[in-house]
Amino acid sequence: MLIYKSVNELQQFLTENKHKIIGFVPTMGALHQGHLSLIQASQQKADVTICSIFVNPIQFNKQEDLDNYPRNVGADVLKLESVNCEVLFLPSIEEMYPNKKYKNFEFGSLAEVMEGEHRPGHFNGVANVIERFFEIILPNYAFFGEKDFQQLAIVKALTKQLGLKTEIVGCPILREDSGLAMSSRNERLTVEQKKDASIIFEALSFIKNNYLKNNIAEHKSYFAKTISAKNMELEYIEFADGNTLQPIQNFNDTDYCVVFIAVHVGKVRLIDNVTIFN
Ligand code: AMP
Repeated sequence: MLIYKSVNELQQFLTENKHKIIGFVPTMGALHQGHLSLIQASQQKADVTICSIFVNPIQFNKQEDLDNYPRNVGADVLKLESVNCEVLFLPSIEEMYPNKKYKNFEFGSLAEVMEGEHRPGHFNGVANVIERFFEIILPNYAFFGEKDFQQLAIVKALTKQLGLKTEIVGCPILREDSGLAMSSRNERLTVEQKKDASIIFEALSFIKNNYLKNNIAEHKSYFAKTISAKNMELEYIEFADGNTLQPIQNFNDTDYCVVFIAVHVGKVRLIDNVTIFN
């Protein structure tokens, strides 16, 4: 695998490969099978897949979260090599933000709910880093997980706003055998906490399979009770339209319903989502 740390080196590689179809998979490292599934999705469509590992400081709204974010580039390189990823881009903060100028993006109501509401500035940080990556790489395709469903919607909106030709491809959530959505943050859970956290997907699946039997308020209170019984803390549960991401109060308010949650397990914040119907 080719590993580039500077924009210049990467762009030289891109110039040499300018007739090839470029697929791009941005990550923050501490890679797991979910990330590798994006690499594999890229390899289906592109001649060359570039994965980036960059823990983007400006998308963290809490310093503690940034400080505790898992980092393990050595193991990441081996994982990327195991799936034959061609290029790893490993930029420094200075390479990414040479003049420390950040833009203020406007995504309207898309960024005002759920993660946007609970992590102020988060999506602006995401939009800045993705714009910069796209400026450097100009990929034909970029791959994002539905694990971060709202982020995927924001990136699609960003690409449209910027008038870029990059096609944004959403990829399904990979889960542990227990149902827990794979996440770099899972590394920080104890064995016991991981076991407890599997109740999240269990409860969301129960809601999906029984959604017609109760109203949204009842489903929310069932989920809240299930989470608190395991000593986890519910930050939010929201049922929303899968296109606009605007919360709904009744199932017949939409024909595409997704349930979104954020839960704290000890000091670790987990997010997940399940499509109820579409
Ligand atoms: P991250 O390193 O957490 O920023 O994630 C990088 C990319 O991997 C994002 O597009 C995520 O949505 C995606 N991703 C993270 N976890 C999963 C998962 N369990 N399944 C599929 N994609 C994922």
